[in-house]
Amino acid sequence: MIELTGVSKYFGPFKALDDIKLTVRTGERVVVCGPSGSGKSTMIRCINRLEEHDEGKIVVDGIELGEDTQNIRAVRQDVGMVFQQFNLFPHLTVLENLTIGPIRVRKMEKAKAEALARQYLDRVHIPEQAGKYPAQLSGGQQQRVAIARSLCMEPRIMLFDEPTSALDPEMINEVLDVMVELAGTGMTMVVVTHEMGFARKVADRMVFMESGRIVEVAPPAKFFSDPDSDRARLFLDQIL
Ligand code: ATP
Ligand code: MG
Repeated sequence: MIELTGVSKYFGPFKALDDIKLTVRTGERVVVCGPSGSGKSTMIRCINRLEEHDEGKIVVDGIELGEDTQNIRAVRQDVGMVFQQFNLFPHLTVLENLTIGPIRVRKMEKAKAEALARQYLDRVHIPEQAGKYPAQLSGGQQQRVAIARSLCMEPRIMLFDEPTSALDPEMINEVLDVMVELAGTGMTMVVVTHEMGFARKVADRMVFMESGRIVEVAPPAKFFSDPDSDRARLFLDQIL
């Protein structure tokens, strides 16, 4: 469970997050959307403390995020994140990209880490790519490796920040399909995306942000057909 209460965040004098209140229950899938600069990335980066919030409280699976480095480490073990840019290690093979975390951080034996890695490569449907280097893969394959790499840490929560927006159109679905399957496993997910087909399929709730604030929270059926705020309506008119 993720709980944000009264969370604000400044970059210098600029208020990037303004009094954010959001609870994501265990097993829930939340899709976050909103215009560029509205604070979507900043909000989800605060959940694993890639950004530090200035006001309010963030609690992840019972652990409060603050200065305490032990807490930060504990939360990061619990929370996987996938970015727009895949951030794979270019000098490591796919298999090595997947095993490095379990071996270094989770102190897993190499053989066990490799078995785990192969299991997750199967899960993202590219078991045959284990020996390749990232540059030898398509963008869609690289992003699926990045998802598998996160899953190898066996997180309880997965955060996605526009995971398909750097992909060529023909590769978007292969990544979204993997995410839909992941949602089917009951994983708690917070996904920033403008892929509204995906949102309709998996979201329990839609969160719409504007100028650092959460303007609207609604189930997808309601959000897409009859949003309460004019801002959300305008936004949907632009992207749908
Ligand atoms: P996009 O859809 O373009 O990814 P976003 O909703 O994810 O946008 P954020 O990246 O969270 O928006 O940024 C929110 C605001 O905070 C923006 O105005 C941005 O310019 C500002 N901002 C983000 N990161 C920093 C930073 N490191 N330093 C200063 N300002 C920042
Ligand atoms: Mg962003």
